[in-house]
Amino acid sequence: MSRRPAPAHDADGFRREAKKHLGQNFLHERGVIDKIVLAIDPRPGDRIVEIGPGQGALTLPLLDRLGALTAIEFDRDLLVPLAAAARAHGALTLLNADVLDVDFDALAGDTPIRLVGNLPYNLSSPILFHALAHAAAIVDMHFMLQKEVVERMAAAPGSKVYGRLSVMLQAYCAVTPLFTVPPGAFRPAPKVESAVVRLRPRPPTQVGIVDPAGFAQLVRAAFGQRRKTLRNALAGVADGAMIEAAGLRPDARAEQLSVADFIRLANLRAAA
Ligand code: SAM
Repeated sequence: MSRRPAPAHDADGFRREAKKHLGQNFLHERGVIDKIVLAIDPRPGDRIVEIGPGQGALTLPLLDRLGALTAIEFDRDLLVPLAAAARAHGALTLLNADVLDVDFDALAGDTPIRLVGNLPYNLSSPILFHALAHAAAIVDMHFMLQKEVVERMAAAPGSKVYGRLSVMLQAYCAVTPLFTVPPGAFRPAPKVESAVVRLRPRPPTQVGIVDPAGFAQLVRAAFGQRRKTLRNALAGVADGAMIEAAGLRPDARAEQLSVADFIRLANLRAAA
């Protein structure tokens, strides 16, 4: 007797097989979903934009709370079943796009948005830097990421994982790791542990960076060769006299500098 092949789609119309190259690990554990929604604390009138809604694990409970939501999903195959699932929960505006092509300033218009998402882990850093570039349009962000990435984002000077991501994010945002999530909360289960983090962009006056592009260049150069002394790592970017004028030792290493140190040095360089 021949066995029937398993159907390609489930009863809700979603494909059974997740697309690995799109970082599809769908959250299914109710307790974790509730905890994330509680952390986001959606309020009436909030304009929430979700990155990668997938099968709607976060989308539907957020719609229940808000009545309306915008979501950006790259995978065309998810659009029809997701729109159908959302109908009973509220008004879902679905944008079929690569989030890296979405202009959050244009999307926000006059009303800053709140970004949320269980992110595709292969795109975590590009998405974080893309959001940073639009920080003025964003009230806050709640993201699920690989636990190691959250540790790098929140790391303090002197830590092994303190680096470019830590300095860039902490310069522009308050970074608050919230809780960890085990692989078993997802289908399929990822190989790594996950964590949820909150990012709150600081007002530009509080950030105090005179030349953002110059700051980014300096941080990139400093950590590009993290074992080198500042004097060597920053050759061609800032010389020893400038490093000393910022109150820093040219023989220090990038991982010993605080975020405020980087900002002071970058501002001195901008003024030179
Ligand atoms: N939010 C869902 C959940 O929690 O179950 C799905 C999360 S899954 C980790 C990541 C989602 O991001 C998938 O739905 C995937 O198709 C989508 N995605 C991947 N790359 C994307 C991109 N460049 N732009 C927008 N969405 C993307």
